[in-house]
Amino acid sequence: MKKHNFYAGPSIMSQFTIDNTIEAIRDFAGTGLSILEISHRSKEFVAVMDEAQALFKELLDIPEGYEVVFVGGGASMQFCMVPYNLLKTKAAYVDSGTWAHKAIKEAKLFGDVEVVASSEESNYNFYPKIENVPTDVDYLHITTNNTIYGTELREDPDVPVRMVADMSSDIFSRPIDVSKYDIIYGGAQKNVSPAGVTFAIVKMDALGKVNRTIPTMLNYETHAKKGSMFNTPPVLPIYSALQTLKWYKSLGGVKVLQRMDEEKAQVLYDAIDDSKMFVGTVSPESRSIMNVCFVMKPEYKELEKDFIDFAATKGIVGIKGHRSVGGFRASLYNALPLESVKVLVEAMKEFENK
Ligand SMILES: *Cc1c(COP(=O)(O)O)cnc(C)c1O
Repeated sequence: MKKHNFYAGPSIMSQFTIDNTIEAIRDFAGTGLSILEISHRSKEFVAVMDEAQALFKELLDIPEGYEVVFVGGGASMQFCMVPYNLLKTKAAYVDSGTWAHKAIKEAKLFGDVEVVASSEESNYNFYPKIENVPTDVDYLHITTNNTIYGTELREDPDVPVRMVADMSSDIFSRPIDVSKYDIIYGGAQKNVSPAGVTFAIVKMDALGKVNRTIPTMLNYETHAKKGSMFNTPPVLPIYSALQTLKWYKSLGGVKVLQRMDEEKAQVLYDAIDDSKMFVGTVSPESRSIMNVCFVMKPEYKELEKDFIDFAATKGIVGIKGHRSVGGFRASLYNALPLESVKVLVEAMKEFENK
């Protein structure tokens, strides 16, 4: 039976990405070798790396002066790499969820951190308003989409300082004004590729300004200057990422993806708002179009497990909410078809009528 995959990450990938990745594992670019067993310095793989970086730049309209680097370590390693490379004395952070909170903890190892906005006290159920950002900070760090709580900032805020953003779970879901940022980073396993590669879009001018010594592998310059080939990169996830980027381009780019994502989210939020049984957990103006969090109203609470089992009979997987919110979370990443959302909505209605 065809599954409707709502997992939050690792998560659904396009069939195009999966098919081409399988093919490259069998025979990579007509080399007669698997991509798993060929040198990352072969001309065939160097071409993959170059094209992946170029397509990243093209799709996101990245201005001159920025490099796209691919490294390991996940978004979680970026939590320390960012302050290592950019924090001189003080940075501002927005505490909008679990991942933002973890980023703050790491930044404190490198300097003063001022939390300028937070929704922690209400279990992160809205995106905190970003205002009064001090001008004496080295950067403002934001997490544009809070994967666990389902809140999102769907714009590039106007602030008087340079920004750094964790866009792990909403990259390629809207156009971005990259010029406002020194670094945009993310684990690729939500909207780009299988787990194992992390992307960072780095403004080269922003580097080299701190006084501390940065270990070679944690220095963005190391990777940027060697085209992400200083050491062996995560070859297979980069290959898959390239396939996803080609698929995005063939669909028409980020504006088209944005329209598709907004439509999917609208269908699901409308169903939640019309329901007598289900209710959203996030204040409407902060709702994420990537991760939709909802629960059952108190009088139906004990039926949550039953709904997950019922949904499974319809091929729906991955809708169990994160333990810090409970209930349900449906992740509607770019590769998820609208049809899957409609199947979920139908299942909700059928369950409610039973
Ligand atoms: C998934 C996620 C992370 C963690 O990514 P890893 O690659 O597992 O370290 C960080 N930030 C956000 C917003 C995420 O969604």
